[in-house]
Amino acid sequence: MTAPDGIEAFAITAVEYLGGAAEERAAGLYTVLWPAAAPGDAETRQLAFDPEVIEEEPDAELVTFASPTLEQIVQLATASGRVARAFLKTTAHVSRGTAERLARSYRFLDAVWSSEAPRPWWLPVGVFLFRARYLSDSREEDLLEVAVSLADRRILRRLAEAIERHGLGADPLDAWPMMAEIPATDAYAVARAELERKLLSPIGLRRRELESRLARESGRAAGYYDELLRDVQEQQQGVSADTPERARQESKLRAIRLEREGRLAELRGKYRLEAAVSLLSVLRLYLPRLVFHGRLAGKRDAAALTLIWDPVEQTGEPARCQRCGSLTYEAGLHRGGVACPPCLDGTLRSQGSH
Ligand SMILES: [Zn+2]
Repeated sequence: MTAPDGIEAFAITAVEYLGGAAEERAAGLYTVLWPAAAPGDAETRQLAFDPEVIEEEPDAELVTFASPTLEQIVQLATASGRVARAFLKTTAHVSRGTAERLARSYRFLDAVWSSEAPRPWWLPVGVFLFRARYLSDSREEDLLEVAVSLADRRILRRLAEAIERHGLGADPLDAWPMMAEIPATDAYAVARAELERKLLSPIGLRRRELESRLARESGRAAGYYDELLRDVQEQQQGVSADTPERARQESKLRAIRLEREGRLAELRGKYRLEAAVSLLSVLRLYLPRLVFHGRLAGKRDAAALTLIWDPVEQTGEPARCQRCGSLTYEAGLHRGGVACPPCLDGTLRSQGSH
């Protein structure tokens, strides 16, 4: 799979969207009229998306994941308010049973969780829309959407249903605070990794299909040339060496072998699969969440444990283990902290071995 122009496409689209202009000078190199903060403020910059390009154009700025230029573009886009954003058109109802239902989403190990009254927040989600093109003897394309929680990098998988059920609005139904966001480039990296995972199966499927067609056609072509070769080899029997007739047959054999190789290479090229991916758009979507600050208490120990209720899916979000950072629906206490079962087992085992 060719590593795609995701960043390039994103950066150039953003620059143009923000009122700037970009002209491609060479593959991966652009002259960009930077979006002006004020009229008459125009600035020209050279952006390179390929480290090799930068060797020939030392004045260009290399744009990669961690580069300040990409972060600047993202910030510009965010500040301008021109990144599409929407709110799920729903609110978060709290009933007396909500905290209990939330607690039932988890299994607490030798501990009991209790909480204060919840507070509603908006959870920001980055919805990345990608286009994947599969190029072989035919052209096909897929649109794939990846939603990343900008609060904790989780991939959200059931958004489409929620959007269909509630709809989207340009303004929030309730003026709640918004959870802090991870940097946009981090979110993009998470989305890319998920996209690649999602593409494994469609690419694998297409590749297997192409391989079986390639095997079939190559077999047929090879059989055809093998028969031509056999014909000439049969004619050679009884023709003595060092005669012009023999030389003609030898050159005919060479020509057939060459043609056979050429045809097989051509078929391999025809059935080779290339996938190119580009980022089409980003939507910042806000989802309602109820945040419950609480305490997990055991016989000897207790620790603060904040849990989050998803009023759309009517379920708790996974908690984070305070030892290893992994997400979990099972939690216990260890030395004044909340830990997942593998961490609890690990500490028990290491205690037992002493
Ligand atoms: Zn853990």
